[in-house]
Amino acid sequence: MSLTNPQVEKIMREYDKIRADAWADRERRIKEAYSLIPGLKETEQEIADLLFERAKGRLFRDSSEADAQRAASAGTDGGRVVISEADAERIDDAKPVAGETAGILRDADALKLRIQALQRRRRELLAGAGLPPDQLDIRYRCPICRDTGYVDGRKCRCFRQAESDLFFAEQPIRAKLKTDNFENFRLDFYESAKSDEDTESPREHMEDILDYSEGYVGTFGMNSENLLILGATGTGKTFLSHCIAGALIEKGFAVVLLSADELFRILADHALRRDGDDEGAYRFAMESDFLVIDDLGTEVNNTMSNSQLFSCIEKRIQTGRPTLISTNLSLKEIRDNYTDRVVSRIIGSYRILKLFNYDSDIRLKVRQERQRREENE
Ligand SMILES: [Zn+2]
Repeated sequence: MSLTNPQVEKIMREYDKIRADAWADRERRIKEAYSLIPGLKETEQEIADLLFERAKGRLFRDSSEADAQRAASAGTDGGRVVISEADAERIDDAKPVAGETAGILRDADALKLRIQALQRRRRELLAGAGLPPDQLDIRYRCPICRDTGYVDGRKCRCFRQAESDLFFAEQPIRAKLKTDNFENFRLDFYESAKSDEDTESPREHMEDILDYSEGYVGTFGMNSENLLILGATGTGKTFLSHCIAGALIEKGFAVVLLSADELFRILADHALRRDGDDEGAYRFAMESDFLVIDDLGTEVNNTMSNSQLFSCIEKRIQTGRPTLISTNLSLKEIRDNYTDRVVSRIIGSYRILKLFNYDSDIRLKVRQERQRREENE
């Protein structure tokens, strides 16, 4: 059940392509800016030259001239030395080499001030032309790993997301994420009038839930709340969970979406060691930053599956990884269908979001009541 080598190579090729596209995109933006702003190219060239001067001074102060030459020619791009400003900063922050003289330090300071002045000038030129400050920079899809897939020799979150995306690629659920997002959320689908039994209308209630959900996404991290979304069929549970999942994927989190049925199959395979190793679906699901279990209650449910569900929920709580469960079941039905352990864990450590709307009969009735009230006023 693990990813095969060709699959991993496929991911690596995608990273190569993302980086190549990012460079091409940057080249395009540079050309655009150069054609719009006279003097920008010269400023940029001078910054690049001085950055290289400075880096060379830092790196090769006590190496031989031959080393410096070799290193300088290694990192060139069509005759121009490629050194990013971030690299230059790092080099600049490095401790001075022992035996450094005051003269070199003074030169370095002068160089630094000159670079800063030029960078300021560049910002002003860009702003003057109405371009963003990062117009000339590479725009990484994932700034954490700069689209390399690795941070300090470990897989970046975006790489784990790519792995689980590939692993679960055939899932129809994934296709939905493109359309099911907060922008497409139809609040008008929820009744704006309220019946006498309710304290707020379905639409007001849904507005509160949407506000909460967007705040949840905005502040998401390890130990964010677990969510239990309750509601009858057609109240938008799945849509809402897709909105949250999609927005978190967008933010670079590793998200796995499974129907309850799929999850229970994965848990059973793992328990019976039918999945062979830990590289498979079980690991992706358990180690994801956010796990969505869609439609709890539709699975084949027995004592064994209950205990597997408990250990899944428990393990994710223990490791601070949030989970979202959506279900048609009411709290009472959850109590009837699952063991006390499962129920108390879910109710005790999940935030419950209850979605509701009036069905068309009730909607009609509510509207008629409202009409009558208005006529009487
Ligand atoms: Zn990354």
